[in-house]
Amino acid sequence: MPPCLCLPATHSLPSSNLLISTRHRFRLPKPPNASSQISLNSPLSNQTSPPQPKTTGVIVIGGGLAGLAAATRLQADNVPFLLLEASDGVGGRVRSDVVDGYILDRGFQIFITGYPEARKILDYDALDLRKFYSGAQVYYGGRFNTVADPLRHFSDSLQSLTNPIGTVVDKLLIGLTRLKVLTQGDDEILNAEEVTTIDLLKKIGFSDAILERFFRPFFGGIFFDRELETTSRLFNFIFKCLALGDNTLPAKGIAAIPEQLAAKLPSNSILLNSPVVSVDSESNSSSRIRVKLLNGEIFESEFGIILAVEEPEAVKLLAGEKTAEVRQPVRSTVCLYFSADQDKVPVRDPVLLLNGTDKGIINNMFFATNVAPSYAPAGKALVSVSLVGLYGDVADEDLVDQVVKELSGWFGQSVVGSWSYLRMYRIGFAQPNQCPPTNLTKNPKIKPGLYICGDYVTSATFDGALVSGKKAAEALLQDRALVTV
Ligand SMILES: Cc1cc2nc3c(=O)[nH]c(=O)nc-3n(C[C@H](O)[C@H](O)[C@H](O)COP(=O)(O)OP(=O)(O)OC[C@H]3O[C@@H](n4cnc5c(N)ncnc54)[C@H](O)[C@@H]3O)c2cc1C
Repeated sequence: MPPCLCLPATHSLPSSNLLISTRHRFRLPKPPNASSQISLNSPLSNQTSPPQPKTTGVIVIGGGLAGLAAATRLQADNVPFLLLEASDGVGGRVRSDVVDGYILDRGFQIFITGYPEARKILDYDALDLRKFYSGAQVYYGGRFNTVADPLRHFSDSLQSLTNPIGTVVDKLLIGLTRLKVLTQGDDEILNAEEVTTIDLLKKIGFSDAILERFFRPFFGGIFFDRELETTSRLFNFIFKCLALGDNTLPAKGIAAIPEQLAAKLPSNSILLNSPVVSVDSESNSSSRIRVKLLNGEIFESEFGIILAVEEPEAVKLLAGEKTAEVRQPVRSTVCLYFSADQDKVPVRDPVLLLNGTDKGIINNMFFATNVAPSYAPAGKALVSVSLVGLYGDVADEDLVDQVVKELSGWFGQSVVGSWSYLRMYRIGFAQPNQCPPTNLTKNPKIKPGLYICGDYVTSATFDGALVSGKKAAEALLQDRALVTV
């Protein structure tokens, strides 16, 4: 079993990739100092002697979905491990804050129940998943127009056949594209010939109307890439998952997903507030790779290291190894939250609203409480608005003003004027760049004893992160002959 480590008391430690703004002042996070908060059965408390490494089976660095999936796989084979996480909680990019009774996911995220690995590893019932309407409402021509999944909302889809969000042929082509992806295996999709998503959609024959009014805001919002230059492999994978499952949110917030995984691991196997500053991959003894924490503590692994950090951090920590550079531009987003009185909510459906015009900065929005009422206190509603890109040169106040003005054009000034701004999340690294050429099934092994996982190793999705974590753990177990997989 791992050494006896107690979880440190949590304190606010937003990642450098995430900026949170409200109208209120925030206390700056305290610098992480794990050693002051960990009780250790080790001689480290002696300040005069050089730090002695603490040994464990496997060290997993990073507690996002990939790291948690790797740890889950190790635990399944009773292999001891220690997960070192830099921030004050697990989840990585999949976290939520509770502010005055509102659940604020750190950026708008949707959990698609059709994700194949997620189905295997997560307990959906316990997540109490709340469904979105299968389709969207597209703001175009001064009104909202329905795009509906014909298999789930047949009469809506019939009524929407002649709306301006695309031609009747477009709507048939959506059905044919769906049939095509459903006949393909996931590995086949992820390794298929690739072009950009926009080129694929044009080749299928979609009209400019549906490309501009539906595909750009819908898939542009998923990829944080309105140009749709992201690989067709990712488009086909997500299109298939959307066909197989529902778009949902856990009632307790998106963070319930990683928290469910973490809760099944031994509590003393996760060490929070523990940023790793170096991985001693130069070590000759590949079976004893060491890692050093920001506070100077050193951990040594008996079987190997699984590096489950986001791509830019992995490139930094593996500086001595041959790793690819971070491809640019990385994908960024801003998510703004507003509170409203329930009677000031102009839309009652649990539906995603898309900006189908070529004007304004809003890409998509929804009333989170229409999907999961638990996202706000009784009588209140939570409004979530997403932008594609970071808008780094626009001050928070200006961004809020711009969004409020745009929403007022959609719903009326008297409605939107009654809402209160809650918080903004600017997420610099939301997803890696996955434009062609891509390799969505990368080998997790850097060398014996050192493995990588994360969404940049597979597909930039929850599922990609989960699969990559499992595969990294299996590669380690196989190399160390700890298990036959
Ligand atoms: C706003 C937003 C919306 C998204 N929407 C969706 C969606 O709807 N559907 C979907 O499928 N995907 C979505 N994604 C993508 C998805 O969240 C990611 O692909 C996935 O969560 C990545 O998981 P990961 O474990 O690879 O990386 P991360 O979640 O980034 O985890 C890496 C972890 O490593 C830790 N770490 C970093 N450096 C160190 C260090 N030096 N020492 C120790 N720990 C370290 C970090 O703190 C972090 O916890 C979205 C992402 C964002 C940001």
